[in-house]
Amino acid sequence: MYDQVIDFIRDIYDEKGYIPLHEPKFIGNEKKYLSDCIDSTFVSSSGRFIDDLEEHLAHFTGAKYVVATSNGTAALHISLLLAGVSLNDEVITQPLTFIASCNAINYCGAKPLFIDVDRDTMGLSPEALSSFLSANTKVIGKQCINKLTGRVIKACVPMHTFGHPCRIDEIKEICDLNNIKLVEDSAESLGSFFKGRHTGTFGQLGVISFNGNKVITGGAGGCILTDDKDLFKKARHLTTTAKIPHKWEYNHDEIGYNYRLPNIIAALLMAQLENLDAFLINKKKLTENYKDFFSSKKDIEFVQGIEESSPNNWLNSIILKDLSQRDIFLEETNHNGIMTRPIWTLMNKIDMFKDCYCDSIENSLWLNDRVVNIPSSVIV
Ligand SMILES: *Cc1c(COP(=O)(O)O)cnc(C)c1O
Repeated sequence: MYDQVIDFIRDIYDEKGYIPLHEPKFIGNEKKYLSDCIDSTFVSSSGRFIDDLEEHLAHFTGAKYVVATSNGTAALHISLLLAGVSLNDEVITQPLTFIASCNAINYCGAKPLFIDVDRDTMGLSPEALSSFLSANTKVIGKQCINKLTGRVIKACVPMHTFGHPCRIDEIKEICDLNNIKLVEDSAESLGSFFKGRHTGTFGQLGVISFNGNKVITGGAGGCILTDDKDLFKKARHLTTTAKIPHKWEYNHDEIGYNYRLPNIIAALLMAQLENLDAFLINKKKLTENYKDFFSSKKDIEFVQGIEESSPNNWLNSIILKDLSQRDIFLEETNHNGIMTRPIWTLMNKIDMFKDCYCDSIENSLWLNDRVVNIPSSVIV
C-alpha cells in the first residue's frame, strides 16, 4: 500500500539496508577535538571547549548568556527552579511533549497543568492558554492563582515540537499579562527561528538538548539560554554544586547540582556546531523533497508549520488523514526496514500525570492519533 513512500525514502537515502529515524553524523573535527581534549587532561567540568561552546551558542542563538549543562532535562530543571517553581506550584505545559518537560516540573515539587496545542504548530496554543487563564485564574498581588485548585501557576513551558516553532510571541504576551514566567522547552529546536528570532530566546529562560537524536549531539548535553545576567549567574552557580569560587577552599552556599557539561562532551559538540549550518541546509533540502513528494498524495498531509516560522526540520512528520491508516503505515515501513514512529503517548495519559489537571485537548488527541515521524537524518 505504501510501496511508493518506501521506495522514495530508500531513493533519497540511497540505502538498501535499515534506515533509522535520525542518526548523528560525525563528519567534521570530532575525533581531533576529542583527542585534543584528552591530551589537555581537562575532560571534566572545566576547559576551553565548554567556554567556546557557550560563546558560540550565544552567538548562534542571539541569547546574551548560555550555560552548558549535562543534558536538556537538567537545563529544564534548573530553569524552572530559577523561574521560582517550588513545592505545590503548578506549571502549564502541553500534553503533546516528551516526558522530560513533565519530569523537570515534578523535580521541583510542582505539578504540570495540561493545555492544548495548535493543530498547525503542534505546540502550545495561545488561544487555549488565554481562554483557560481567563476562565479559571485570578492574579493576586504578583501571583497567578488557579481558582480550581487554589495553587499558584508559576511558569509556562511551551515546547517547539519536532523543531516547529509554536506561536511563542503570543504566548509570551499572555504569560506577561498573567505574571507567569515563560520557560521555553526548545530542546528540539536548535536552528529554528520564529519571526527571525531564535526559539528559546523569547522566555525568561530557554532550554536546548544535545541528546543523541537531536540536530547536533555530544552524546548528551544541553544548555540554558537567557538574557538576564542575574539568572545566568544563578544558573552557572546551581549547575556547579553551588560552590563559592575560591582557589582552594570548598564551600557551598545552597543545595546545588552536578549538572555542568563535561569538557569532553563540549569538545564533541564544538565539532558538531561547526557543521550546524551545513546540517540545517541539508535538512531543509530533505524537507523540501518530502514536501514535493507528499503533495501528490491525497491521503497524507506533510506537516509544514506556520508561515512566520523557519524550522530546523529536525524530525519530518506526516499526518495520515484516515485514522485507520496510521498503524498500517507504521507496520509497513518498519517491517521494510524504514524506521517511523507515532508521536509520544500524551502526558495526561501517563500514570504519574493522570491526576494532573487537563484542559480540553482536542487538537492533541487528534494529532496523537495521526502524526507519524519519518526518517530525517542528514544525508551524506
Ligand atoms: C530531548 C528533549 C528534552 C531533554 O533532553 P535530554 O535527553 O535530557 O537532553 C526535553 N524536552 C524535549 C521536548 C525533548 O525532545
